[in-house]
Order: sequence, then structure tokens, then C-alpha cells
Amino acid sequence: MSLNGQIPFVDLVTPHQELEEELVAVFRSTLRTAGFIGGPMVDGFEREFAQFCDTNFCIGVSSGTDALRFALMAAGVEQQSIALTVPNTFIATAEAISQAGARPDFVDVDPATYTMDPDKLRQYLETQCDYDPHIRKTIHKKLCRPVTAVVPVHLYGQMADMDPILELATRYNLTVIEDACQAHGAEYFSRKQNRWFKAGSMGHAAGFSFYPGKNLGACGEAGAVTTNHEQMAAKIRMLRDHGQSKKYYHDIEGYNGRLDALQAGILQVKLKHLSDWNQKRREAASRYKELLSSVDEVGLPFEPTWAKSIFHLYVVAVGERNELLDHLRAENIGQGIHYPVPVHLQKPYQSLGYWEGDFPIAERACRNLLSLPMHPYLSGEEQIRITQVIARFYAAKRTTSVVLSGAR
Ligand SMILES: *Cc1c(COP(=O)(O)O)cnc(C)c1O
Repeated sequence: MSLNGQIPFVDLVTPHQELEEELVAVFRSTLRTAGFIGGPMVDGFEREFAQFCDTNFCIGVSSGTDALRFALMAAGVEQQSIALTVPNTFIATAEAISQAGARPDFVDVDPATYTMDPDKLRQYLETQCDYDPHIRKTIHKKLCRPVTAVVPVHLYGQMADMDPILELATRYNLTVIEDACQAHGAEYFSRKQNRWFKAGSMGHAAGFSFYPGKNLGACGEAGAVTTNHEQMAAKIRMLRDHGQSKKYYHDIEGYNGRLDALQAGILQVKLKHLSDWNQKRREAASRYKELLSSVDEVGLPFEPTWAKSIFHLYVVAVGERNELLDHLRAENIGQGIHYPVPVHLQKPYQSLGYWEGDFPIAERACRNLLSLPMHPYLSGEEQIRITQVIARFYAAKRTTSVVLSGAR
């Protein structure tokens, strides 16, 4: 806790203080070699992050948004086809779909985990689409376009229920691109394969973000794609570098979407601490659980037995959310809303023709969910103070309502 009693939402200062010497050494060696683009730090980080995610390949790119976009493009997602995701995500998931040339469409989330509800996905495919086994294509009946991809989002650090999603994807011949931008190191127990999987290793490819506030963050913008498919990896390497197969020989039109060597070097330093940081977040989450279990008005995050969350965010479902938010702010306690407006109701997607009420679970999440401070350096004392403030807020509400009903 800082001197004025302020409890920050994230602490991006302490890890950089702790690692300052090593990080400065990375910068110094970049300066001395002038190896700013590509080179051994990028190769080294890619190798280490692929290993961390249990995948054959990792391709460093300039952001999580580019990672998702390149993954979709490399998977050959057809122009004008439909790619399905969820409405309660950061808008970049949908942007990546549109910018890869597809049309985003949505299925609602599970009310307990807030990740893609596989039953809703099944309903969408069974009722709104026809599968043609001859051309192995799923066609949306009303929109008359193929559905070619599904992008489940591993939200708040917890993986979506991948077994049934992958099964449906196989049945309907859809590409699965995981949005793992909040899930570096999250795990999923596949009941089907009877083993744990790392985020980023289950779909055809996955996009990761290393935005500074993510569990693994660069000192600037950065991202990566992981995949087990060699051809996808080769295509993504081309897409990130102007479509070059070798210098000045361009096979396709690509982008400037590379990962900076400096950021790769920084990420290499930080990756060594990621498992420990994730573990500290899990410990903070179980302390929250204990401290908040007696406050009935607070719905705690649900971790199914098949999931190991890395708690990118600690998100609770609460009544009178906006009032509690103001109260926390007044008490100098960091807070956030992830996310206040579902993607289908955001201005750029109005043309898709959705209205309020179309995805009720995601919409309710936008009204009820509140993110509490969460980071590896969050102390037990800070959590006691945060949870006391919340408990008192609801205790005061209860007293007021008793007084009011007594006066009637
Ligand atoms: C952060 C994030 C992204 C985008 O990552 P950038 O690196 O900011 O481009 C995409 N999807 C989700 C769910 C995210 O949290």
C-alpha cells in the first residue's frame, strides 16, 4: 500500500524496478549491436514462448490485434465469410476478424464463466446454418455466406470450454483461433484427451498480446501467434514482414507487423518470472475468495474443475455496480469495468443489425461486473482493506433498507 493509502488497480512499476538492471542490459546490447529488427532476441523469445505454451511455433508480431488478424488470414479465412466470437470481449477480437476480411458474428457467453457458451454455438450452427458435406462448408442461411472460423476468448485469464467448441468446429469444418490475449499460461483440462493443455495450444492458432498491462507485458506494444502448424507459421512470418519469403521477394501482400528486438529481449527477461507471477495472482485470488465469501452481494469468479485461471483480472458480479465503483474510487481503491459496452452494441458494429436484448448474458455482464485490483504484488493487507470497504458498503445498504422498510 502506498503512503496515501492508494491501492492501484495494477502495479507496473515494481516489476520494472526489480528487473531494471536486466532490462537496461537488454537495451544496452540492442544499442551496441544496432540489432533493432529481427535477430537473436526475437528468435530466442519465439523459441522460449513456444516452449512455454507447448506449441511447435511462435511468431512474434507487433500487437495482439495483429496476432489475431494474421492468424485468421493465415488460416485462410474466406473474404466476406463469418467468423464467430463473443460480445463481451475487448473490441480488438472483432476488429481482427473484420480486418482479416471476414464478418464478425456473435454467440452469447456462459453465465458462470463469461466465456463462449458451447451450447449457444451449437444452437447457432444447428438452427441458423446448413452444413453441406460435399463442399464441407457451413452456410449461414439468412446471410447466405459461409461460416469459416470461431474465435473463443480466454477471458480474464481463464480458458473457454474448448472440448465442445473444438468438436463443433470439426463437425462444421471451422478454423479455431484462440484469443489468448489475456491468458498467458492459463490451462484447460480436456476430458476428451484426459490431459491439461496450455492456452494457445488447442486451436489451429492463437493470438497473444504483450500490451504492458497483460500478465506478460512488453515495455511498449507487442504480440505473438502460437501454432502447431508449420505452414501457418510460415504464412504468418510472411504476413508480418510485407509478404516477403526472402528479402525483397514478395509472394503476397503483407504488413509491417514485426516484433521489435528490444521488446523481444525484454519479454525474454520477464518470461522467466511469468509462472511465479501467475502463481501469485492465483494466491491473491484465493485470498479474495476467502475474504469475500461472507458478502452475499458479491458473486465470485467461477473456476470450473477443468480450468486453471491465471487471473489476468479479478472480476466479481455485484449489485449496484456503478455506486460501488464510485465508492471504491472515493476510497482510493483501483477498479475497472471489463467491459462497459458489449461489442455488438458498439458503434462500428451497428451495421450488423443487433439490438439490446440480443445477447442477454453478455449485456448483463456489462452491467454487473466489476474488476478489483489484481497483480502479483497485491498484498494481503491491501486485500483486507479492499474487501472491508466492499463489505461496509453493502452493510450500510442493508441498514438503510431495513430502516426504510421499518418506516413504512
Ligand atoms: C489486449 C487484448 C487484445 C488486443 O491486444 P493488443 O496487443 O492491445 O492489440 C485482444 N483481445 C483481448 C481479449 C485482449 O484483452
